[in-house]
Amino acid sequence: MSWNIEELARDNVRALTPYQSARRLGGNGDVWLNANEFPLPVPFELSQQTLNRYPECQPKVVIARYAAYSGLQPEQVLVSRGADEGIELVMRAFCEPCKDAILFCPPTYGMYSVSAETIGIEYRTVPTRENWQLNLPAIADRLDGVKVVYMCSPNNPTGNLIDPDDIRALLEMTAGKALVVADEAYIEFCPQAKLSGWLKDYPHLVILRTLSKAFALAGLRCGFTLANKPVIDLLMKVITPYPLATPVADIAGQVLSDRGIALMRQHVAELNANRAWLLEQLSRLSLVQQVFPSETNYILARFADSPAVFESLWDQGIILRDQNKNLGLAGCLRISIGTRQECEHLVAALQVLSVENA
Ligand SMILES: *Cc1c(COP(=O)(O)O)cnc(C)c1O
Repeated sequence: MSWNIEELARDNVRALTPYQSARRLGGNGDVWLNANEFPLPVPFELSQQTLNRYPECQPKVVIARYAAYSGLQPEQVLVSRGADEGIELVMRAFCEPCKDAILFCPPTYGMYSVSAETIGIEYRTVPTRENWQLNLPAIADRLDGVKVVYMCSPNNPTGNLIDPDDIRALLEMTAGKALVVADEAYIEFCPQAKLSGWLKDYPHLVILRTLSKAFALAGLRCGFTLANKPVIDLLMKVITPYPLATPVADIAGQVLSDRGIALMRQHVAELNANRAWLLEQLSRLSLVQQVFPSETNYILARFADSPAVFESLWDQGIILRDQNKNLGLAGCLRISIGTRQECEHLVAALQVLSVENA
């Protein structure tokens, strides 16, 4: 008997192209500037010896500390397996498969569409304007049937903040109809732009945060969803019984201590200084057509021949993220901010390439 197991799978899963994470793409490098990770490991030690027991679903220490860090009440905080799980929880709690839709504005983060496709929810895209700001009239035109609008600020991969006046207009336009999810994965690099203070005014605002970027714990898989209690209560209905392993909660609690937060802020200051240096250096290279300002731990730059640059650096063990196929980003590479030494290494390699191509 021979038949194709694929025929048993859901149609949308058969059609699905999985998210091309930096890790899946591989590479053999010693300078990893492709996943917006913090360049150095931070040392933590496990303090819990209770692995025989199931963990708490929402570990109290972690929730209390994140609430204090973000100036909110514990009931406004949900912790999950990375912000990526938060993206999906909102869809699973609010969107009816084959009926409701989500909306987002490319170029932006790739997981909104992947999660929608996996669950079987329509996704609608409204490209940003040329300056990567929201096209509000076009969004208004396409809101019919939309339950969730995902908006990334600062945006990945472009690095810009979304205009707060436009976010307010989006919240007014969607009131009573749809949630607005503000993805703040990089907000620690520009904390003045955070929207947590807006939760008191908007019952349909949801904010996503993570320990993967500024907190230097991408390998921990821990993220947060901030919203008012009625939203959190609904998300709690669909979350798995034990989303956080005991060691994850243990370390998340430590990193959210006063000492842990102070260390994160010091790291952010260092990376922001490295970013300013790298931006300046890149803008001097003949190979680089355009460097875009950034509020994050990465820089987007446009190159005359980006595939050649990408490949040449790849062969030298410097791994960047190709954005060539992202809407409107032809010729663009995204460069995560590493240590100063890694930034210098990259610039030196690009200088050699510039001379060779002169
Ligand atoms: C990295 C990233 C995430 C995912 O964060 P995890 O907590 O590692 O799942 C979500 N949104 C954006 C925009 C990101 O860049």
